[in-house]
Order: sequence, then structure tokens, then C-alpha cells
Amino acid sequence: MASDTRTEREGEAEVALLERRPRSDGRGPEPAGAGAADAAGGAQVAGDGQQAVEGGPDELDPQAQARRAAALAQVRKFGDPVLRARARPVERFDGALRDEIRRMGELMVDAVGVGLAATQIGILHRVLVYRVQQQSPVAALVNPEIEWAGEELETLEEGCLSLPGVHVDVERPVSVIVSARDERGRPLRVEAAGLEARVIQHEIDHLDGVLVLDRIGRAQRREAMRALREALGG
Ligand code: ZN
Repeated sequence: MASDTRTEREGEAEVALLERRPRSDGRGPEPAGAGAADAAGGAQVAGDGQQAVEGGPDELDPQAQARRAAALAQVRKFGDPVLRARARPVERFDGALRDEIRRMGELMVDAVGVGLAATQIGILHRVLVYRVQQQSPVAALVNPEIEWAGEELETLEEGCLSLPGVHVDVERPVSVIVSARDERGRPLRVEAAGLEARVIQHEIDHLDGVLVLDRIGRAQRREAMRALREALGG
């Protein structure tokens, strides 16, 4: 077991996540200098990462906040049966698919998320998009399959665009190898580790109708359901 690597990775993620944790007063201390850049640049939580700016939506300008709200309104939320359905493999790699992928990418970026599965916008296609670094282009995987998952597991906090208010600790393999197609049907092979691997696994779960709620224990689930009821106003 590569315990050194693991500790380092966990430590890094922990810092990033803590910065995005909601603060009780909604503000918290202003990060200064280089720290501010780090906090902004690292504005991602694992999973869909919709909680990315929960620690400080005030960091977004009013236009960005409006775009985020509009994007989130298009994402299916807990209780919508589509989230429990299994998506179908894509067979036609046509202009309609590319439009769908472009739209998903725009929605994810507007929502300040790090990943989005087609299921989450009510399209039962095995398509996911993700972007774990703000400067990177949006990546799209069509018909993704996990070919291999490493034995090393890691538990990290995840959020989900479909589960507002929910942050849960989810255990997943640190590394995966995924085969997929690109938007034109060409074969892809992605070797991912850390946040990238986690986001891909979270999104593939969506394509199978699986939510993070299914990957946690009873105590966490009870907490999560309470947070959901509060966030969804029911
Ligand atoms: Zn999700």
C-alpha cells in the first residue's frame, strides 16, 4: 500500500474541500494573497461539485450567479425518477449528440460543477462531461466503461448537482482506467487518478441510476436526507 502517496493526496483534497465547505455565517475569513487564488482556482468539490461555491456564492458576480441558478434549474433533482433509470448506450454519433454534449458542458460550467451526466438533464444516454481544472477544456465520455479499478480506496466528501445541500463521504478506488468513445465515436482510453477518477466514477454511477446516497451508511444517509428536505423545501 502506497501510504505516503495516499496521505499526500488526502491532505491535498482535504484542504481544497475545507475551503469550500459552507460556513455557518456564509462568509468566513477572506483568503488573502496567493491563498485567494488557490481558493478560487480550487473551487471544486468531488462528485458533481455543485457545492463548489457554497462556501462563498458571493465570490460570483451577479451575472454568474444568475447563470448558475438558471443552469441548476435545468438539473433534475432527487425525487425525479429519471435519476434512478439506467441510461442507454449511444449508437449514433451525429450532430445531435455533439449538440447535446456542448449543451451539457455549458450547463456544467454555468452551474460551477466539475461533472454532469446526461441523466441529470433527463436524457438517458450514456454520456458524461467533466472538468476538474478550471483552465482545462471540458472532457466528454460517451459509453464509458470502467475497465480497471485500483485496489487502493479513498474516502472523500462529494456533492451532487441533483442533491442540493448534501455533502457525504464516499469511498471509491483512487485510480481507474476507463474506456469510452469521443463525440465522434473514436475510441478513448482514460487513465485517471484522484479527483478526475472520482468524478468519472460519480458520473458513471448516474448513468446506472446510482446516487451517492447508495454508497454511504445509514447515519450519513439520514443526515443527507435531512439536508435534502431542507434544500428542496419539502
Ligand atoms: Zn451527481
